[in-house]
Amino acid sequence: MSDDVLLKVEGLKVHFPVLSKGFFARQVGAVKAVDGLDLEVRRGEVVGLVGESGCGKSTTGRALLRLVPLTGGKVVFDGVDLGELKGEELRKMRRRVQIIFQDPYASLNPRMTVGDIIAEPLAAHGLVKDAKERQTRAQALMERCGLDPSFVRRYPHEFSGGQRQRIGIARALASDPDFIVCDEPISALDVSIQAQILNLLKELARERNLSYVFIAHDLSAVRHISDRIAVMYLGRIVETGTFDQICDDPKHPYTQALVSAIPVPDPVIERRRKRIVLQGDVPSPLNPPTGCTFHTRCPVAREGKCQSEAPTLRTVNDRLVSCHFAEEIGDLTGRSE
Ligand code: SF4
Repeated sequence: MSDDVLLKVEGLKVHFPVLSKGFFARQVGAVKAVDGLDLEVRRGEVVGLVGESGCGKSTTGRALLRLVPLTGGKVVFDGVDLGELKGEELRKMRRRVQIIFQDPYASLNPRMTVGDIIAEPLAAHGLVKDAKERQTRAQALMERCGLDPSFVRRYPHEFSGGQRQRIGIARALASDPDFIVCDEPISALDVSIQAQILNLLKELARERNLSYVFIAHDLSAVRHISDRIAVMYLGRIVETGTFDQICDDPKHPYTQALVSAIPVPDPVIERRRKRIVLQGDVPSPLNPPTGCTFHTRCPVAREGKCQSEAPTLRTVNDRLVSCHFAEEIGDLTGRSE
């Protein structure tokens, strides 16, 4: 593993068992939420993880922190296989990896003061023994995250949605982590607040050399924060590259469909390009299609290989793409014509 790679994910699988009804319930299938996912995150890097609802993004985020059991594959954090850690070792590692949840309303304990919520990781990891010192640290984190530190004894319901997300960010920072999963942290907020929260997360990443996996359901949400983008479809990554590679020259047909949904400021290009509208919904992860799992919706799927053989991520034009025919497909949106 190269020195600047902080997190390396190989063949990650998270399957949830489906049980039959009745007293003697037995497993009759599995929801393959994540099914062979590969990903790397470097130190200080922000990777945007993008895909439609139900593609397994949030389950991936939780699996990276070992908040759900792994069915297969490896999550290696700073050279240590998280799957091998137990008890005290796992608890210690958890100090370094944190999560910011999508819903700032549901993710904060309504019975705790904001100061106690933010200071909780300091107590849980035994980082600061003195209760007064923990409150002082909580106030400093509140201030850094744009909250009035004199509100330290208030309760979550006394804050707006944007302020509650700032509380969630302050809590995630308390244990001084290296890596944070940001699970759609702006999608439940008013548009006017979204840019402020994004800017705060960006500043904190720079200041503290933090790495993020930033989960979002569309590319526009990650464009201003991500160094690299990973596009996910039905439990796997289908393309990764820099923001420019993904947005200016997407290779996978699914990425091309996502990019075609972003409005282009140039009216000439906007008129010329075609919007790729995918037919149908994402197939059920209970029974994913054979071969390339995108073949049931792919506008350029071919008979034979696409249905029978699963493509793997391989290098095409300096980025990774999982499509048998990535070199031949060209631009489906007509932008480059
Ligand atoms: Fe489409 Fe086939 Fe490529 Fe899959 S492998 S994206 S079905 S062309």
